[in-house]
Amino acid sequence: MWFAEVNFVNQRQSRKFWNLAKKKFAGVTLQAGDRTESSGACQRKDKTNLEGSDFVTRQEFEKLTSRGVVVLDGAMGSNLREKGMPVGVCAEQWILEHPDTVLELQRAYIDAGSQIIYAPTFSANRISLAMYGLEDKVEHLNRELVALSKKAADGRALVAGDMTTTGKMLEPRGEMSYERLLEAYKEQVSVLADAGADLIIAETMLAVDETTVILDAAQAVCDLPVMCSLTLESDGSLLYGGTITEAVETLQEMGAAAVGLNCSVGPDQLAAVVRTMKQAAKIPVIVKPNAGMPVMDPRGRAHYNMKPESFALSMMRLVEAGADLVGGCCGTTPEYIRALCRCLEQLHR
Ligand SMILES: [Zn+2]
Repeated sequence: MWFAEVNFVNQRQSRKFWNLAKKKFAGVTLQAGDRTESSGACQRKDKTNLEGSDFVTRQEFEKLTSRGVVVLDGAMGSNLREKGMPVGVCAEQWILEHPDTVLELQRAYIDAGSQIIYAPTFSANRISLAMYGLEDKVEHLNRELVALSKKAADGRALVAGDMTTTGKMLEPRGEMSYERLLEAYKEQVSVLADAGADLIIAETMLAVDETTVILDAAQAVCDLPVMCSLTLESDGSLLYGGTITEAVETLQEMGAAAVGLNCSVGPDQLAAVVRTMKQAAKIPVIVKPNAGMPVMDPRGRAHYNMKPESFALSMMRLVEAGADLVGGCCGTTPEYIRALCRCLEQLHR
């Protein structure tokens, strides 16, 4: 089985690499011996702070992913709604008004085993913020939110600056021009990089073309590795047209550091999609699905019914199918990440 080559034993054997790399990405000095066997959580002893000017180079990212399955975090939005974030508010603004909620959640993810957490900068681009009249807060929101996640990480995990779709289709299918979208993404990603994000994640993307604009924007202003993940149907088709195979081929050609899916459906419906992605991918594959399909209650709120253990077991089938970076999207909590780490340990034992 392919994963026998990239297991935690190899991570232990590569201690020399990790020691050399410690200064650059101290937060991911994950070694088998540092795992808490009793709880199954992937707790790290090394809490060395990342230095302010440090970031992860593409080469370091490749080394990280070549040495074992990398654990991402779980959901942000669905947990904030559980904690009282009202529907219809600007999430980024609400988070800065309630920083402890995110600090607690992100620390819980890292305690559970997340090696990379996503800063809550999801829609903090000029176009999406304009819906709330906050288009002039791009600099303030991205800078403060990255600082918040770096405080939560405290050198124990990498912090990815998070970007996403504006929801507006690009010309000629829609009315959004390439230039306008590029400028909005360049503005956001330059603040993310300057604020000390270790890498960039473009997630919940709806189409390949808008994702290439994020790659163009990032490459124009910084050297950070860019991970790209798209939302898709269980048959691998993208929400705004095209297929995941086209996405993988295009985005890796354009210089993405990793490519894959997030949100979408539950992990129990994704084995064929992950195998398809793996066949086309020359770069690591991201799989960060929801805790099953949502069920809507009478008030229109989504509930996700897949339990942490069954989520984690389904995720192991996706690791066997080729997933290199794994985590959870809507409906998942630190319990899901803990269960995921526990299963990964058993898989690699
Ligand atoms: Zn989601």
